Amino acid sequence: MNKKVLRSLSYGVYIVSTLDGTRNTGCVANSVMQVTSSPATIAVSINHDNYTNSCIEASGKFAVSILSETSPASLIGQFGFQSGKDTDKFDGVDFSIQEGLPVLNDCCGYIVCKVVDKLETSSHTVFLGEVIDGGTIGSAPAMTYAYYHNVVKGKSPKNAPTYIADENDSPENASAGRTDSPEGSASLRWTCGICGYVYEGSVPFEELSDNYVCPICRQSKDKFIQR
Ligand code: FE
Repeated sequence: MNKKVLRSLSYGVYIVSTLDGTRNTGCVANSVMQVTSSPATIAVSINHDNYTNSCIEASGKFAVSILSETSPASLIGQFGFQSGKDTDKFDGVDFSIQEGLPVLNDCCGYIVCKVVDKLETSSHTVFLGEVIDGGTIGSAPAMTYAYYHNVVKGKSPKNAPTYIADENDSPENASAGRTDSPEGSASLRWTCGICGYVYEGSVPFEELSDNYVCPICRQSKDKFIQR
């Protein structure tokens, strides 16, 4: 099977939030879809290893914040590349409470659901949620998964249902160097070792301030490696 065909499916980029008791938590998801119109029902796929999974199971509800093209890319790092088990993912995040759940303000809309059913797979739970509230925010277009990859230059967290291991990310290729830079040269590219973001700014990476942080996961400059 050529797994590349799966990349032709279209997705958005979402923050799925819920409650851990009384504490706000959430994670990044790209597999969110409306499955019925009346009643309006949403399906969302969450990895078993995501802390958010057990919290949705316990709380029986979840919210979906729909990221826009103007949403800060750092939100994806904050919610997608660390665990809510030992981190307050909403620390420093602009959000409001809708139907008791936290939803982001830096997005183009939100949907709040109560869980009505679920389907277990070997790695993910597909939660079905009946929509109990929703609203639009601003006018920026929704961020598609393709936009995230092609414009934001972000990578997929390993827990994403659509994650495909990139053979170019293997240590062997990293040590050997890549030869697929946009110019076709054999130059190595500075890549965030945490989230995979590739620096392509006009200023040479070495000349960036020591205060530079990854725009996706906010890790410091020293987390970048050449490959
Ligand atoms: Fe990063």
